[in-house]
Amino acid sequence: MAHRLVDLRSDTVTQPTAGMRQAMADAVVGDDVYREDPTVNALEDAFAERVGKQAALFVPSGTMGNQLALRVLTRPGDLVVAGGRQHLVIYENAASARNAEVQLHTVDDADGTIDAESVLWAVEAGDHHQPQVGLVCVENTHMPASGAVWPLERLEQLAARCRMPTIPIPIHMDGARLWHAEVATGVSMAELAASAATVMCCLSKGLCAPVGSLLAGPADVIGAARTERSRLGGGMRQAGVIAAAGLVAMRTMVDRLAEDHARARRLAEAVAARWPDAGLDPADVVTNIVVFHHCDPAGVVAHLDAEGIKAGTIAPHTVRMVTHHDVDEDGIDRTCRALATAP
Ligand SMILES: *Cc1c(COP(=O)(O)O)cnc(C)c1O
Repeated sequence: MAHRLVDLRSDTVTQPTAGMRQAMADAVVGDDVYREDPTVNALEDAFAERVGKQAALFVPSGTMGNQLALRVLTRPGDLVVAGGRQHLVIYENAASARNAEVQLHTVDDADGTIDAESVLWAVEAGDHHQPQVGLVCVENTHMPASGAVWPLERLEQLAARCRMPTIPIPIHMDGARLWHAEVATGVSMAELAASAATVMCCLSKGLCAPVGSLLAGPADVIGAARTERSRLGGGMRQAGVIAAAGLVAMRTMVDRLAEDHARARRLAEAVAARWPDAGLDPADVVTNIVVFHHCDPAGVVAHLDAEGIKAGTIAPHTVRMVTHHDVDEDGIDRTCRALATAP
């Protein structure tokens, strides 16, 4: 019997559920550029409330959400402090330079977090021919650190550092998978995002919506982001058709992420059993992403591929597997078996 493909390359490959497709068909829509799409308005309101912010904006992609935050919260020539492996730094085609004309000041994020002291260093360098720090960006969960979650105290330390100077520095949280952080820790998204001025979350990844992300923050900031969205050509008309799927995603797809987390842990255990030196402690895998080092990642990917399993590489010597709704227990069993015989 032919096996179903087990696609662990990313949680972006997830298909919209039957409930989403039905909600999309039934959605009441209007012209969102006139703010007359009741489904988009409902999604933006529900998200703002969920993350404890005044307002929210529906955007086509997470990248646009991050880029709008940069354009609204910084001025050209500002320094933006971010972890060196964050999406905003290495997966957005230098969009921050192109769109916001900022200089990125990258700091160590090996464990997924950035140290408050490194921000202080960047601020003090502002007195010595370095530009002013206009923004600090964090990623929660942090993808390349195997989906690590920011400990709340560490975020609060960072926020305290950002409040210190005469001009307070806002924090933008790239929370593409903040849903996963909430499920993993039991701490609400609102609390996790409390230190951040703005927070972006994706509906189109683990939550299985076909398209869309949201940016939330203070009403004036989101108002300005709405203008910037238009400038980038991101104004959408009857977008309620896709927002309807997002509402179903927020309502029905968050709690089940715990299954994806348990499955990622199983994969991490299989990796650690096969390659004890791969630098992966299964206990560190608390959400849905498994990242490990290997001298021949292409060989591992090819071996899995021959078994009908797709994994990916994200950097030299680095393999990634991401669990999600469309990979079931049987798919994980098969992957664990395949890992046991991998080169
Ligand atoms: C996927 C992702 C984004 C961008 O989302 P897109 O919708 O693909 O543009 C931003 N940040 C992180 C951490 C992501 O994983």
